[in-house]
Amino acid sequence: MDKKSVLIIGGGISGITAAVEAAEAGCKVYLIEKRPYLGGQVARMNEYFPKLCPPYCGLEINFKRIRNSSRIEVITSAEVENLSGTAGDFTIELRLEPEYVNSSCTVCGDCSAVCPVEAKDSFNFGMSMHKAIDLPHELSYPNRFYLDDLVCQKESCKKCEEACNYDAINLEAAPGKRKIKVGSVLFCTGWEPYDPTNLKEYSWGESPDILNNVMMERVGAPNGPTSGKILKPSDGEPARKIAFVQCAGSRDENHLPYCSAVCCSASLKQAIYFTEQDPENRADIFYIDLRVSGRNEDFLKRVEENQQIRLIKGKASEVSLLEGSPVIEAEDILSGRKIREQYDMVVLATGVVPCIPGLKGIELDPDGFIAKDALENGLSAGGCCFEPKDVASSVRESTGLVINALQ
Ligand SMILES: Cc1cc2nc3c(=O)[nH]c(=O)nc-3n(C[C@H](O)[C@H](O)[C@H](O)COP(=O)(O)OP(=O)(O)OC[C@H]3O[C@@H](n4cnc5c(N)ncnc54)[C@H](O)[C@@H]3O)c2cc1C
Repeated sequence: MDKKSVLIIGGGISGITAAVEAAEAGCKVYLIEKRPYLGGQVARMNEYFPKLCPPYCGLEINFKRIRNSSRIEVITSAEVENLSGTAGDFTIELRLEPEYVNSSCTVCGDCSAVCPVEAKDSFNFGMSMHKAIDLPHELSYPNRFYLDDLVCQKESCKKCEEACNYDAINLEAAPGKRKIKVGSVLFCTGWEPYDPTNLKEYSWGESPDILNNVMMERVGAPNGPTSGKILKPSDGEPARKIAFVQCAGSRDENHLPYCSAVCCSASLKQAIYFTEQDPENRADIFYIDLRVSGRNEDFLKRVEENQQIRLIKGKASEVSLLEGSPVIEAEDILSGRKIREQYDMVVLATGVVPCIPGLKGIELDPDGFIAKDALENGLSAGGCCFEPKDVASSVRESTGLVINALQ
């Protein structure tokens, strides 16, 4: 075993950054991702604050570095089952999903064209449909079709296997296992959105026009369910008036007691790209405090100067439905005025929940993040494993971790 080898768990922007930095510094890297594609949450985003550029620019550059590196092995659709050993000598046991589509896939699309099964597209949070065998999304890396085990008719259909001219599909593929030995392990397992079904006061699930903030990113994205046009999911009509509800589940003892750090900047960004679509569009942001820092301050200034956006200091107490459209009740704290207003769409800025795998030796704090200073020698963590972070901080931290590990 190469002592300078590292296994990175999680192929989001933090894990990808750590992988390319470590490989370019001479380490052998195994990058493990549970989904069939790399990129994590960032791959699903529309624009990036603070610059409002497409997230795929940054990801593409890193995918190129991975593609050109002989030192990085990317293992997708895989999770760590067991981790044992000490610094310089770890053994990791992986559980691999069945490889129904192998690396001979040329992305020709013949399989998808004949597939008779349509299912909700999880990449778009169920807001569009896709085939049971399809690309996970149009820019996915590795660029390979993926078969959705839960909906595919497999042996009773076989149309995709017959249509494939490259022997890339095997419907009888079985789950696998693999053992890897490395010198160090880095956790970059990121976050998931807080489950909005817990937010009864905001009528979650009662109207498709009440979304959470990660769904809003897909609605605004050019490769999203409406090709970037912000339309009401209920009837496909353009949304003209959207409310953003901050701290939906964050800074609340009944939900997440902590601040998720990125939701304010995310809503400011979403209000900007929504109002830029049409001069008639109006956005209201209901907030307790607007928490933006560093370069995102400029961003807040840009929103404050935007006549199409109102910043309302006051937590939305309720979202209800009136003739199918969401209505918000809140108190504007600065004027003391009670507000009851109807919207085309409501976006709940739900918080960030850590996604740490339950493994021996990984101690969690009361909020579910990895406990600071509790990692044993040879184990480290980046990105949102200790606390919620934006992309720039996640990338900086991952690079720093690799430098530390090398020293
Ligand atoms: C609505 C919203 C909008 C945002 N917009 C911006 C923005 O515009 N600009 C900005 O800078 N930041 C933004 N952020 C923050 C940004 O999403 C995070 O900074 C970024 O996702 C952190 O990257 P990460 O790699 O640490 O985590 P993630 O993106 O969550 O990636 C983690 C990866 O690990 C994988 N994984 C998890 N568990 C396992 C496991 N057990 N085994 C294998 N793989 C696993 C996941 O599948 C995922 O691919 C936004 C956040 C929200 C909530």
